Amino acid sequence: MNSIIYPTTNFKHTATLIIERGDGAYVYDSNGKQYLEALAGLWCTSLGYNNHELIETASEQMSKLSFSHMFGGKTHQVGIDLAEKLSAMVPVENAKIFFGNSGSDANDTHIKMLRYYFNAIGKPQKYKIIARERSYHGVTVASASLTGLKPNHTHFNLPFDALGVLRTDAPHYYRNALPNESEAQFIDRIVNNLEQLILLEGADTIAAFIVEPITGASGVIVPPEGYYQKVQAVLQKYDILLWADEVITAFGRTGNDFGCKTVGIEKPAMMTLAKQLSSAYMPISASVIRGDMYDAMVEQSAQVGVFGHGYTYSGHPVSCAVALKTLEIYQRENIFDHAAKIGAYMQKRLHEFIHHPLVGEVRGKGMIGAIELVANKKTGQAFPDGTVGNFAMQACQNNGMICRAVAGSSLAFCPPLIVNKSQIDEMIEKTAKSLDQTLDFVVRE
Ligand code: PMP
Repeated sequence: MNSIIYPTTNFKHTATLIIERGDGAYVYDSNGKQYLEALAGLWCTSLGYNNHELIETASEQMSKLSFSHMFGGKTHQVGIDLAEKLSAMVPVENAKIFFGNSGSDANDTHIKMLRYYFNAIGKPQKYKIIARERSYHGVTVASASLTGLKPNHTHFNLPFDALGVLRTDAPHYYRNALPNESEAQFIDRIVNNLEQLILLEGADTIAAFIVEPITGASGVIVPPEGYYQKVQAVLQKYDILLWADEVITAFGRTGNDFGCKTVGIEKPAMMTLAKQLSSAYMPISASVIRGDMYDAMVEQSAQVGVFGHGYTYSGHPVSCAVALKTLEIYQRENIFDHAAKIGAYMQKRLHEFIHHPLVGEVRGKGMIGAIELVANKKTGQAFPDGTVGNFAMQACQNNGMICRAVAGSSLAFCPPLIVNKSQIDEMIEKTAKSLDQTLDFVVRE
């Protein structure tokens, strides 16, 4: 335990919870204690744990072909099949797909494909990317630069200047609205800020605007209705591509197949997928782009030779086989319909917490949600640091449920899509008990 450098961890806190096994929506620690996994691992184990079909698929594929790459003219059938299936599912026109290993590297790939594409069509100066405050797009040097969260920048000398990342407002009405500003006025103001940024920088220097349709790690921000319609109008006016980072929101999570549909994003030019693509049984990601962008890249390739980008594990056959089976299960078992139904129930139950003295806002769509804990319910005054959120998360853990404190003092919920109503009730009961314990802690402090 002492030889590991833990990811996204306060180094002064040693990890003490050893998770040993999982089954369905539950995981068990090394003492045999059961936990409801109310964050689906890290927003990813959509089909839960110990799914025999996925395990057998992986095992069969390992026996048949444990590795083969996709460089320079080689391919394999399971990769082809997965790309075809995905291409038919996503709302990207004539979608073409590049496989990677994680959401972060898929976003890096997209940055490079944008550059390759705009070089191909003779606009090399069009490379900057607009990203939002309080966004999460990964932690590699490039994707962390897109991310709009301080802990991912401070001490790493990020964002990386040469990337040309521009920053615009987070669409969080509860936290960012001016006094007495209506939702409609808030949208107009932040979309106007976006337009001013574009005019200031020059539209011909900006390639794309990256958004999580609904954010995850930054606190499950659900933009007010109408926000994306106005954003899309501005992007169209200035010929800037819309890039949907659906690493969390894809595959039934928000009550529809893709988060874009839930929030009214039509035809994104690019989409990033990972996590639920394989229900996290194997690492795999997909960078999806519009067919016409790929066609231009083919032209470019004819001039410059090789498209010099690819990971050893791009299209790993075992990951592809597991992802293909995951998509098959989603369709065969109508998982997205189930998630929409249970998600509506989950939202209804989560919203009951608005009456709790610690809760300032409840937000979410489908099977993703968050409750924001505040120091003053009336004014919305935030707790000064993450202490209260972390206490609540720990209380949940003590009470046999795993969730996650995000963005300081919000508790995030994102259970496996396969949970039933009584497991949502269990989640609510354990949260209620933990919130009361947290209130005691706050009053005591
Ligand atoms: N984009 C989004 C929206 C994410 O939520 C995440 C991970 N939480 C990533 C990108 C990065 O994915 P990974 O951790 O697989 O690199």
